[in-house]
Amino acid sequence: MRHGSVFLPNIAEVAPHVLQAMARQPISNRSTEFHAIFATIQAGLRGVFRTVRPIYIATESGTGMMEAAIRCAPRGRIMSLVSGAFGERFVRIANACDRRVDRHVLPPGDAPAPEVVRGLLASASYSALTVVHSETSTGALADIRAIAEVAREAGVMTIVDSVSGIGGACLEFDAWGLDCVVSASQKALGLPPGLAFAVTSERFLAAAAKTEGRGVYLDLVAFDEHARNHETPTTPCVPLFFALEEQVAEFRREGMEARWARHEAMRQTMESWVAKTGSLLNMELGILAKRGMRSPTVTVVTLPTGVSADRLLSGIAARGFLVGTGYGALGESTIRVGHMGSHTVRELERCLGAVREALDDTRESVSSR
Ligand SMILES: *Cc1c(COP(=O)(O)O)cnc(C)c1O
Repeated sequence: MRHGSVFLPNIAEVAPHVLQAMARQPISNRSTEFHAIFATIQAGLRGVFRTVRPIYIATESGTGMMEAAIRCAPRGRIMSLVSGAFGERFVRIANACDRRVDRHVLPPGDAPAPEVVRGLLASASYSALTVVHSETSTGALADIRAIAEVAREAGVMTIVDSVSGIGGACLEFDAWGLDCVVSASQKALGLPPGLAFAVTSERFLAAAAKTEGRGVYLDLVAFDEHARNHETPTTPCVPLFFALEEQVAEFRREGMEARWARHEAMRQTMESWVAKTGSLLNMELGILAKRGMRSPTVTVVTLPTGVSADRLLSGIAARGFLVGTGYGALGESTIRVGHMGSHTVRELERCLGAVREALDDTRESVSSR
């Protein structure tokens, strides 16, 4: 695939030099060479998560760390804010792990209002709250800072899924007083899939040590103990550590503020493109997420009735770009554009040029029927 052509919401385009870093003999994860790489990665990721806490790195997908967060969450009842499929995933995990969980479901495209969260947390005694930062199924962005403040006032720990947020959307672990944030390699961090990340507050970790049923592979207390020695509890995917070492150098080169600004500019490009293209083609195009609640890394574009998302996506692919299908039931009526990783506004505009042409084609085939 040509570089600058992958705009999927679930797999980021990976820079060629990052891919190349993986093509070498893996080293022992108990060697001093590995310890040095681990330390470099820690320093780099602390800047990304904006924390002085260690970053736990596991070989698994993002769902693995979501399950780790639930398994290690303080004893007691959990409140889950569900703004889409990934919010619902926390509920599924909590149920499967025999945790008591209540859920608050929002309409697609909406994000939780802090005032509503305040009421929810006052309605019963909760120990933890789960919330998705950038809900990749709808493109909605939650105000994590305000929600965490409400939770802290209620004495509830905040667990955040920032799998498609971190690396593209601003998140400040320490300054916002978060308790557990999980992410994964293959979205806004611009790496291949296979690594998941977690950061916990000291109080979350202390509570986790008293939570039963943490298991072995997903035990964040064990990750913390090993991180002190610059290691992971078990053998990690070493080639992905090579890639990550390369990528943290890139984060440092660009700077997080510049990275967030670049993603915010892509979000704005999506907004103005939808408005402009809708009127140009005389088509009802829209954005699923409410104004002011839109993710800088993924945009869900709503299509007019009569335009087949499948046909549109193949038209886009024929022009050399990969754009994502809508999630689940939204698959018929939406497409998802992932504008994350190393993409720029210029690359996104090229992709959107192809989307416009493909849209024009579907319109011709609609009217000629
Ligand atoms: C991709 C994603 C996940 C995790 O998916 P995995 O396939 O397990 O990596 C979780 N939450 C969100 C918001 C995501 O976008």
